Amino acid sequence: MEQFKTIHISIQNRKLGASIPSINLPAVTTCRANAPCRKGCYACKGTFLYSTVQKSMQNNLDIYKISPKAYFSQIQGYLQMIPFKHFRYHSSGDIVDMQYLELMVQTAKICKETKFLCFTKKYEIVNEYLTKHKLPKNLNIVFSSWGGFIPENPHNLPMTYVKFNKSELDKFIPQNAVECSGHCENCFACWNLKKKQSIYFNKH
Ligand code: SF4
Repeated sequence: MEQFKTIHISIQNRKLGASIPSINLPAVTTCRANAPCRKGCYACKGTFLYSTVQKSMQNNLDIYKISPKAYFSQIQGYLQMIPFKHFRYHSSGDIVDMQYLELMVQTAKICKETKFLCFTKKYEIVNEYLTKHKLPKNLNIVFSSWGGFIPENPHNLPMTYVKFNKSELDKFIPQNAVECSGHCENCFACWNLKKKQSIYFNKH
């Protein structure tokens, strides 16, 4: 723990490209307990398994747990130094708790030049927050589904689906959902998704 004092923000992610920094947290630990994607989770494979990557994600979570404000003020400081137009939360991991979401909102309000994107399966936290508050326009929270694991979505947030090429699972994907092209820095569709719009990913 001691050797890590600063959060690790990733840049040059293969899918996101060099113009979209992201912050990651350990998958499973921060994911919902009954997440149906645990078995085939992409964040539990490939480069996410490198010990340096695992350590940096655990380090991020440790810093958040010790000081939520320090974690987010480092994200804010990073984006004030280099005002990237886009930022992605959690290629791995998920919204930790309500305070985390509140600080995501505060960060978006401070870093107005940046559009933030977060896919989540922590639906209940977001739904509860939205009963009393609105999200800033530059923070797009997108509910992520998995086959028939579909959230309650009373606020009509945009959604993602996974295409399994199995009719019993794919029947939930809306007709007008758009296929992910796989290269965010040439696309940015998810940062601009509006209420009731959706994207689908091909399962790999
Ligand atoms: S739809 Fe576009 S922005 Fe969304 S994940 Fe796919 S490539 Fe990235």
